[in-house]
Formats: sequence, structure tokens, C-alpha cells
Amino acid sequence: MPEKSLALEMDRGWKAFQIVNGISDSEKKHVKQLNGLFEIALNNMARGLSMFDDKQRLVVCNNLYGEIFGLPQELTKPGTPFADIIAYHVWTETGHNTAEDRAHQRRWIDGHVGALSAGRSFSETKYLKNGRTILVTNQPLPDGGWVDIQEDITEKSRAEKKITWLARHDTLTELHNRFHFREELQTTLANGRDFSVLWIDLDNFKAVNDTLGHPVGDALLKSVAKRLRKAIRQTDVLARLGGDEFAIIRIGAATAAQSEQVARRLLRAITADHMVLGNKITITASMGIALAPEHGATPDELLKNADLALYSAKSTERGTYAFFDPTGDYDIGKSQRLEADLKIALKKKQFELHYQPILDIKTKSVGSFEALIRWRHPERGLVPPVDFIGFAEETGLIIEIGAWALVRACRDAAGWPDPIKVTVNLSSIQFEKGDLYKSVATALELSSLAPERLELEVTESVLLRDHPNTHDILHRLRELGVKIALDDFGTAYASLSYLRSFPFDKLKIDRSFVRDFGTPQGSDCMAIVQSVTGLAKRLRMTTVVEGIETADQFNLISNAGCEEVQGFYFSKPVPVGEIDDVLLRCQDLFELKLVKTA
Ligand code: C2E
Ligand code: MG
Ligand code: MG
Repeated sequence: MPEKSLALEMDRGWKAFQIVNGISDSEKKHVKQLNGLFEIALNNMARGLSMFDDKQRLVVCNNLYGEIFGLPQELTKPGTPFADIIAYHVWTETGHNTAEDRAHQRRWIDGHVGALSAGRSFSETKYLKNGRTILVTNQPLPDGGWVDIQEDITEKSRAEKKITWLARHDTLTELHNRFHFREELQTTLANGRDFSVLWIDLDNFKAVNDTLGHPVGDALLKSVAKRLRKAIRQTDVLARLGGDEFAIIRIGAATAAQSEQVARRLLRAITADHMVLGNKITITASMGIALAPEHGATPDELLKNADLALYSAKSTERGTYAFFDPTGDYDIGKSQRLEADLKIALKKKQFELHYQPILDIKTKSVGSFEALIRWRHPERGLVPPVDFIGFAEETGLIIEIGAWALVRACRDAAGWPDPIKVTVNLSSIQFEKGDLYKSVATALELSSLAPERLELEVTESVLLRDHPNTHDILHRLRELGVKIALDDFGTAYASLSYLRSFPFDKLKIDRSFVRDFGTPQGSDCMAIVQSVTGLAKRLRMTTVVEGIETADQFNLISNAGCEEVQGFYFSKPVPVGEIDDVLLRCQDLFELKLVKTA
């Protein structure tokens, strides 16, 4: 029954109740019966109801009224002053009822009754201590009293709040969503404040989803969200724009150096290992930064420019950031085109392997050639791996490219003098998708190359990603007779612990250690190279030092106890047709006894 008609019914009932005094016994019996029915009706209502007379005393109430406000029985009896009920209610809700409280209640009651006596009905929402939300509708009665209807709207208001929340949040990470972010951008722009928009995208997130499953992917997104939330300031706005994309509005003017510092800090926060559902995951992220107001006058323009900057960060190097450059030559469709181009490259055989020698210091001979892929692009010329390997990994095309490289390298090496080996680089994705073992076995079979002459290089990221298949594949490859080397050693994190996780045959110390030789940091680098070499020896691993560019560097390295060396000083990577020349050059250079190819 709507509140208004219900109140009128009650009023009529009350009047009838007043008239019954002074009527016959049979009429009294009838009225008593009516009262009984009235009580049943009252107590079966889904709402609480209370009626007060013009003296502000309770006339009647149902059980639900008492229950909603937790009133003791004596306060639900007819005649109870409204003020006593209110005082009790305030006391249960606040835990106190001082003289000051009572004065406040008196003023509140006067206001309440005053509004009703003006003939106005009104509603108010009460939030009770027990978490319930009650909508109280007050309806004045013609003779000066009033009726209160109490409706428990807890669930309804929770649902409304949830809907409002959902409209502005991402349910997975509980961060703000794109809608809210855009609106915040609009408001911040309208306020005329300086700010920056940071657009963050996780690198290779698809691989996590594909290989470890969506629950792990989701948990990783939550973990990233938590890190970002911790890394921002209260005034910043953080949102998940969708998929593996996050964005931040960072309020306030900042110098380029300050922004760079923030970008680095945020990227570092994401990069630290994530323990999710029993998996240790390392992921990097890239970031595009647009500055307001100079890089955009509307939210869309700012978002578009931050996205372009992100795209440029991704295409240079994963795990870095880039600022939007208003003079930059951005090509939005580039990423889709790159994928299509890579597919064409596979079909049209546009990939080539170039070979760089790895020299054995003790035997004074070329121990192996490392195969380094290049893409002979019809327009762009020779494209280096750094420009497409990351993208090939993200799209999964690396599986096919990697399988091709294995076959090509083994076939080329089969024509070289025994025992010169060939070294092939593997991507972590090859361990997680496709059938790497089969690709290697097929390449050996097709080329008839002895497994001992094939060496595979994996980077620390293969171990960092800790995929369940990784160790099994590595062991099976070793059993096949293939050698396994750990590439770029020292560029990732817990390097030394990985040395114990798999018995590598070889350790390639990253070229960054050699680069600093001769500088103030050089002595540290030398100490690191020496101790890593010593450690590797104890673990029966050979050490190779990459990136030797000068005779001085070579002399220093030779004295550090390393067994093998590689670098431009000996030779740059060359096409397969130039292998003989390289062998001769290396011979001249060191007066090495090299076996010439037939
Ligand atoms: P990497 O395996 O560490 O290869 C060594 C890189 O250092 C090569 O770059 C090589 O040209 C360069 N390098 C060698 N000596 C010197 C030197 O003295 N100074 C300097 N500055 N650089 C030197 P490149 O060919 O551009 O390859 C880059 C990376 O791309 C490789 O690093 C490897 O991780 C990846 N890559 C190359 N080919 C393949 C492939 O077939 N499959 C996969 N998955 N990755 C590949
Ligand atoms: Mg390598
Ligand atoms: Mg390397």
C-alpha cells in the first residue's frame, strides 16, 4: 500500500478507535475483533510503522518498528513519548546521551514536528550502526499526529552503490576504469592545471595468459595494480584502461628529469618479481608520457599522444618510457603492418643468419659461430633483431622464426670444418609455446649435424619466467648431446642462483661488463668477470666474454681467466658466404692454427 493511503487508513482506524468508547457490548466485541485484525495486518507489513498523536506520544506501532530500531518492549507501548524513543535511539547509536545531546534532540524533534504540522510529508534516510539503511517516510495526520513508515533499503542502496561503483571501476583490479579516467582528464584540463598522462602497457603479457592461463594472467594484473597503487600519490588518478594497459594522471608541473624519475620508479615497481598463484613472474612494462596542456587540449588528444609515445617506447626497447614528441613522425598502423610484414618475411624467406665467431683462447681456434638473425626487408634494408624479435615474441611468430633459424643454422654449420660449432639463440617463448625439442631434433636430422656441434643460447629471462616445461626441455636437449649456454649473464636479477638451477655448459658474460673497462667502474667490472669466471670453473662451465672491441680489452680479459671471447675486435657478424674470410682473419690476428674450410 502506498504510504499516503496507508496513513489515511490508519487515521480512519484511529478515529474509529476513539469513537468506540461509550458504545454497546456487541459493538465493542465487533470493534475488538476489528482491532485484532488490524494488529495482524500491522505486524504482517513488510515495513515498520509507528503512529504518534498530536501530543507526540506513540499511539500504535508494529513489531518491525521495534525491531528496526532495537527498541525495548516498554518503548513500544501506546503512550510512550516520541522524545523517549528518540533519546533511546540516539543512545544506542552513539553510546551517549548527555544534556547537550538531549538539547540537540529537543531541537531536532521541534523541527521534525514543525515540518509535519505544516502539513508536509517528507522522507529521511537513516544509516544505522548495524549497517542497515532505513528510509523513514513521515506523513502528517489531519488532527496533528503523524505516521512514520520505515523501509529497510539496505540491499537496494547497496545495489545502487554497486551499480555506481561498477560504472567507474574495473572489477578485476578495483582501479578506476577508462570512463572515469577520461572524465578526470576532462575535469583536470578544465581546472587549467599542469599534469602528465602516463600510459603503461605490460610487455609480453599475452604470453603469460597463453602459457600460464588466464587465472595467472588476472592475478598478475591485480599484482601490478597493487604495486602501481602503492607507487602513486594520493592526488594522482590511476586507472586500468583495459587488457594490460594502465594509465595515471599525475597532477602538477614537472621538469623532464622529474618525470623521468617517476617513469623509472613506476617501471621498476612493475618489474620486480611477482609471486602469483605459485608462479614467480617477471614482467617488464613500457610507458608513454604526454604532458598537459602542451601535448593536448582535450582528453582524447592527450590519450592519443600518450599512446603514440607508448608505441614509440615499445618499438625502441621493451621496458622503457618515451615522451610524446610533437615533431615526431608517428605511424599508428605500424604495429599491424609489422605483424603482416613478418608473416610475409617468413613466407618469402627474407630472414638471414649472420655469423659471428666465438674464439677459444687456449686452443687458439674459432670454437663456434653464433647465428644472429637479420631481416632483409625490401624497403628498409637489413633490419637488426632488436627491431623485430620482441614483436615476434609478443605475437608468437617467434616460434616459426626460431624453428627456421635452427634448421638454417644447422644446415650452414654442416658445411663447416668439424669441430666448429654453431650457436643459436632461443627465445623464452619457444620454451613455453610450440615444441622446441622437436624443432631442435628436426633441424639436426635435416642437416645431419652432430648434436655436439649445436649450441643453444638462452637468456636469464627463460629461467626467470620459470615455466614448468623449461627445465624438462633443457634436460632433454642436453641428453640429446646439444650444449646449452646462458647468454647475457649479469643483465637480469638473481643471476647466481640460476647457475645452480641448471648445469649450463657455458656462461656468456654480458658485454656491458667489458664496455666499462678503462673507466672508473672498470675495476669493479674486472673483479666481477674474474669472480664469475672462477665460479663458473668450479661449476664446470666455460666462460665467454662478449663485446670485445679492442686489443686492450682482449688483453685484460685474457688475464681474467676466461676461456672464450667474442666481439667486433675479431669480427662483426657476417653472412655465411664470408665465413672463410673470417676464419683467415682470425688466424692472422692471433696467428692461430685454424682449419680452413674446403
Ligand atoms: P646476443 O645473443 O647477446 O648477441 C650479441 C649481440 O651483440 C649481437 O647483436 C652482436 O652483433 C652484438 N655484438 C657482438 N659483438 C659486439 C661488440 O663487440 N660490440 C657491440 N657493441 N656489439 C657486439 P645483434 O645481432 O643485433 O643481436 C641482438 C640480440 O638479438 C642478440 O643478442 C639475441 O638476443 C637476439 N637474437 C639474434 N638472433 C636471434 C635469433 O635467431 N633468435 C632469437 N630468439 N634472438 C636472436
Ligand atoms: Mg646470443
Ligand atoms: Mg649476449
